[in-house]
Parts: sequence; structure tokens; C-alpha cells
Amino acid sequence: MAVKYLIGHWTAGAYSPCIDDLKSYQLLIDGNGKHHNGKPQGQTASTGGMNSITYNISCCGGLSQTPIKAKQIEAFYKACAIKIKELGLNIDKFYTHAEIGEMVRNYQTKKAGKSLTNADCEGKLIIDLLSWNDYLKQNVGKIDLRTLPDITGGAKQTGDFIRGKIKWYLERV
Ligand SMILES: [Zn+2]
Repeated sequence: MAVKYLIGHWTAGAYSPCIDDLKSYQLLIDGNGKHHNGKPQGQTASTGGMNSITYNISCCGGLSQTPIKAKQIEAFYKACAIKIKELGLNIDKFYTHAEIGEMVRNYQTKKAGKSLTNADCEGKLIIDLLSWNDYLKQNVGKIDLRTLPDITGGAKQTGDFIRGKIKWYLERV
């Protein structure tokens, strides 16, 4: 299926990708900023309920003992820009896995008739573009890329920061 979204992840593992990491994403960026090819689009369990329509790029690391490095995240931003161009997408089609989780959580809150405590990511993506499937729930609670060398924050806050960085590269790649 056609790729509709580019999703940013971290592996929550080591700086070098293990066999399982390589089977979990389309592209991985190791601690030195080097690229590693994973499995083709649609063949990984990267973003629950959205695997057939997403391209997934992951930074290796993200644990307290493997914080994402400056050189690594720059390579990630650039890789995302190149991929967005290649896929013919716009920058607003990039989300972090943490943002997808928040959108699903907020969608569920709204659906249950409760008011949102955090209107950060209102679940517009899910409501507008996806038909609901229960696998989407697997994304709730993900914190991918919320702690980076230059920013630590909420899903939308860090997502906006990352989109800003990718945009800079989009004008230069
Ligand atoms: Zn993830």
C-alpha cells in the first residue's frame, strides 16, 4: 500500500541495531549516525494498526544508558527529509510514535464521552484518515523521541521540534 505517513521511533535498546531491531523498522540510524536498512514497508510491526501505510525510521537507543546523541539525531532529521521527498509527502505527514500514541489515547477519551485533559494531539489523524482498528491501541503510552539532546517534552512539543528540524533539511536535500 502507498505510504501515507513517516513515523519516527527509537528502539529503546543499544546504539547498534540487534537482529530484532532490524526486523522492526524500515530504516535505522545507529549511535554514530550510520544508516542500517531494516525490512520493507508493510512487513514490520512498527506502528500498531498503521504498518501498511507507514514508513518507519528509528534511532538506535533511547534508554537512560543509551540517550540519543546529537550526531545521531541530525542524521535522523536528514534521513527523514530525504524520505519525505522521495515519498512525495509533506512535512505534516511526519509524526513521532509518541504522537500517534497520544492521538489514539485522546481519540478513545473523546469516544468515551470524556473531556480531554491534554489537548496536545487531538486524534484528528485517526478520526479523519483512518478507520478504527484495535491494533491502534498498541501505540498508547509510547514515548519515542521525547528525550533528545536539545529538547525533552511532551509528544506534540517534541514532534513540532523535530518537524522544524526536518523542514530545515527539506530545503537543502
Ligand atoms: Zn516506536
